[in-house]
Amino acid sequence: MEKLVNLCKRRGIIFQSSEIYGGINGFWDYGPLGVELKKNLKDDWWYVFVQSRDDIVGLDASIIMHPETWVASGHVEAFHDMLVDCKSCKKRFREDHIEGNRCPDCGGELTEPRAFNSMLKTRVGVSDDTAIDTYLRPETCQSIFVDFKQICGSYRVKIPFGIAQMGKSFRNEVNPRNFIFRSREFEQMEIEFFCHETEEDYWFERWQEYIWQWYLDIGIRESKLRWYEHPKEQLAHYSKRTVDIEYEFPFGWGELQGLANRGKFDLSQHSKHSGKDLSYFDADRNERYIPTVIEPSAGVDRTILAILCDAYDEEIVEGELRIVLRLHPRIAPIKAGVFPLVKKHGLAEIAMDLEKKLRKKFMTFYDDSGAIGRRYRRMDEIGTPFCITVDFQTKEDGTVTIRDRDTMSQIRLPMNEVAGYIQSKITHER
Ligand code: ATP
Repeated sequence: MEKLVNLCKRRGIIFQSSEIYGGINGFWDYGPLGVELKKNLKDDWWYVFVQSRDDIVGLDASIIMHPETWVASGHVEAFHDMLVDCKSCKKRFREDHIEGNRCPDCGGELTEPRAFNSMLKTRVGVSDDTAIDTYLRPETCQSIFVDFKQICGSYRVKIPFGIAQMGKSFRNEVNPRNFIFRSREFEQMEIEFFCHETEEDYWFERWQEYIWQWYLDIGIRESKLRWYEHPKEQLAHYSKRTVDIEYEFPFGWGELQGLANRGKFDLSQHSKHSGKDLSYFDADRNERYIPTVIEPSAGVDRTILAILCDAYDEEIVEGELRIVLRLHPRIAPIKAGVFPLVKKHGLAEIAMDLEKKLRKKFMTFYDDSGAIGRRYRRMDEIGTPFCITVDFQTKEDGTVTIRDRDTMSQIRLPMNEVAGYIQSKITHER
């Protein structure tokens, strides 16, 4: 884990927020490579679960909502962590994160657990008498429920269908930890899938298949994934059934995505609190009802962490350490490095020209500094799947070499076939 965190900092993938001021616990920044990685991941999810399906539509709602939302959703009442304080070192912990009844840091005595609301409060409005208190959303899904009627009334959707949203969520986590696994500001990718209650088990099982397959499609090893079924007595207040997909991180198994049957809880609550009827008229069944909701809820940052942990590899090549991120080409921040073998003899000009052309199609990086082996290594450790080298033969026959990151083997291709070759490796086969 430490090696990965160091690599992320050294190469500007992910690093602490506000570091020049000493940082702020639980907040992270994605640098030039990290932002590309994250964007590729989110685009892939959006393509697979929204654009390529005819039964899901998208939404991008505001982060701050009417405060009553959080009363109706149960968050004001029930979104609590039970906290204990150490009487000796004064550190605070989530009760469900500690084993035994002593402080995990110093072994000191702990206080009785106290409830602590995890939502981040904020104030909206400039004058004291009109400003209102509300919260930064702790999950993206509530706006999907609140906008359900609007979407049904303005876009042709028919049950069974889903509404997807990705965006920032905020939780005042007591102990942000394990790098970006648990932070206070993070991104979620959520789908609320609306169906008739008689079909809830069918859709729950379909969604188990869809979300599991997606992790395999983005290159995560299946042996590192497992299901965890929440015991009935520990289900969240809204849930009839919840299963999580967990990944085996270096620090242990951790939740990547939850799949919950939220039943009719949310739409019924918002109907009650808003006074607006959020039922749906099903013309096929000739029946009006509150739909049942199956919810896959994934974290962007946790997926990024799983991808990075899964991709990180070290090997000895010709007596030297090679660090390589074996990222799926679709997710990799940079798709191709373009190098002239040497700067002279007009090779740099040809390589720059090629890089400029390829850049119009996907992210590339031009590099002519240092030995070619070093340039390959710099691309390997940020997961660039292909390196293209312009050499003396290029001047004779217009071909270049393409080196594969994982096998380190090379092939020669005419320059005008390079874009098509790489494109075929990074576009969706589905
Ligand atoms: P945990 O038990 O780990 O606190 P949770 O069960 O409360 O998580 P959910 O409410 O199910 O999490 O949120 C859905 C998804 O959002 C999680 O699977 C995770 O990927 C992501 N997520 C939740 N909290 C955080 C956080 N503090 N930092 C990063 N991602 C998070």
